[in-house]
Amino acid sequence: MTQTIPGLHHVTAISGPPQGNVDFYVGTMLQRLVKKTVNFDDPGTYHLYYGNKQAEPGSILTFFPFVDAGPGRAGPGMASAVAYAVPIGGLNSWMMAFAEAAIDFDGPTERFGEQMIALTDPDGLRIELIETDRGTGDLAAGDDTPVDGGFHSVTLWLDAPDRTARLLTDVFGYSSAGEETDGGVKRHRFQAKGHGRGSAIDLITSNAASIGRQGAGTIHHVAFRAENDDVQKTWQEILRSQGFDVTPQIDRQYFNAIYFREPGGVLFEIATDPPGFTTDEPMETLGQALKLPAQYETQRDRIERILPSISNPKRTTT
Ligand code: ZN
Repeated sequence: MTQTIPGLHHVTAISGPPQGNVDFYVGTMLQRLVKKTVNFDDPGTYHLYYGNKQAEPGSILTFFPFVDAGPGRAGPGMASAVAYAVPIGGLNSWMMAFAEAAIDFDGPTERFGEQMIALTDPDGLRIELIETDRGTGDLAAGDDTPVDGGFHSVTLWLDAPDRTARLLTDVFGYSSAGEETDGGVKRHRFQAKGHGRGSAIDLITSNAASIGRQGAGTIHHVAFRAENDDVQKTWQEILRSQGFDVTPQIDRQYFNAIYFREPGGVLFEIATDPPGFTTDEPMETLGQALKLPAQYETQRDRIERILPSISNPKRTTT
């Protein structure tokens, strides 16, 4: 195996109306709104990107806030949780901040020897904070500036995880990093080489009967990193040779994307690091102006009239 996946690039989810989404991720989770653009397939809907200060791959959580999205529910064949990394000792300040802001959370509990808490965003998406000693930067509440850290892991809920596990180990280059069972949920962790941001994937199977339904509060797809177009092209060839139905490369303005469905049903993407989020605005002012790709720039007036306005979020956890 000559090339391996280093970890997550971004995770994309569906939300309800945008204001509650911005209030939660900027005002409560202290993420930076790094890009305010539109859904390229539906320019009457925003596409909001949150990330760390430098808008780095491995920290980017994006949302399509469909105003009329009905509530979704995680189930087998879907990614069911996103976890942010917190430095060791960092959970206390988050718990105090959540308690002060009257935000419910579960925990602390332990998973694979690490302390964690979990909460849900306004649409019901499960967000976890996990203490780790990996080099993931700071994700500390109480700071007035957006956080520095990134993802710890993402959880995929599967009926039969074996083929997904083999994709991670035999193709992506992850290794098995332990199994745990807790309350009828069997969890198997896979770890990418290098232990960087977002380098763990957990596969869970559950006794709980549930049928997933895509909608507000659910994850739409999980994107992994490729350092450039050449690396992505090689992944496309490798995956096609393994029988996966991989899309052609699609220009997503801030990265190039290819998509395929993994054997358990979750939509996977491989996204390039370049050109990044500073391709159409400077680092200092990322996320402040509505950015449109060239094909929609001529319709800007109409698009701005259709999009709901978003006001500055209230900070609840400082
Ligand atoms: Zn994506």
